[in-house]
Amino acid sequence: MSTPSALSSFLKGKCPQCREGNIFKTSVFNIRRFKETHEHCPVCHVRFESEPGFFWGAMYFSYALNVGVAIVTGVIFFSLNDDPPLGAMIGTVLGISVFFSPLVFRLARLLMMYIAAPYRKYKKGPYNKK
Ligand SMILES: [Zn+2]
Repeated sequence: MSTPSALSSFLKGKCPQCREGNIFKTSVFNIRRFKETHEHCPVCHVRFESEPGFFWGAMYFSYALNVGVAIVTGVIFFSLNDDPPLGAMIGTVLGISVFFSPLVFRLARLLMMYIAAPYRKYKKGPYNKK
């Protein structure tokens, strides 16, 4: 099997170490369970939360992504409407931010794992099964 690229593994939500195991338990569209993350990779058994509070760092990525969503939404909404009322603008930006929050949550965790943990390098299998 050919090695999947880091970008395709990132976009598919795969383990940064083996690029095969799923990080998240359900689809991003599962509104009630989108946050559920496997504790260990189902394939290579690496622990995803490599140290206590590791995912707290994902809040920085989440903040940056949310600011990006808010700016893009605000610019699009403002350019499509002629002098919109402030309340409509704020409501639209908040609504779109809430709508994208499951995606932002996952992207933030993935960025934390792929970028902020460079010590976790890709290792080709086979892996010891537990
Ligand atoms: Zn893995």
